[in-house]
Amino acid sequence: MASANTDCAQQLYACGNCAFETPDPDILVPAKDLYQRVSPGESLPAGECPECGCLVHALSTESRASAELIERARARYAMPSDDDIEVDDDARISEGEGGTWVQAWVWVPDAADSSAIRT
Ligand SMILES: [Zn+2]
Repeated sequence: MASANTDCAQQLYACGNCAFETPDPDILVPAKDLYQRVSPGESLPAGECPECGCLVHALSTESRASAELIERARARYAMPSDDDIEVDDDARISEGEGGTWVQAWVWVPDAADSSAIRT
């Protein structure tokens, strides 16, 4: 990247329902009926999603790192596959030596379609 921006240090806010994300909490709608929507022990939302109305929370550094790893796993394995490798949004992450394991789904066709299985 050529610019000297501070993306790494920037806080990000994400909707719990849709793909909406923003670094700017000022564009969020103030959350209504907060005490009916947030259970004791749950973190308070930053506001409501302007697109779907669900609650928006600040993303922790940890969940942002996981989201980035999930995107990298998708780009490397799921995208080039013929829809037979998928990575969930909440895939489990496990750090290893020199890399990280990201949980994925692999498609296994019915036994009748054994042409896809190579030995
Ligand atoms: Zn939303």
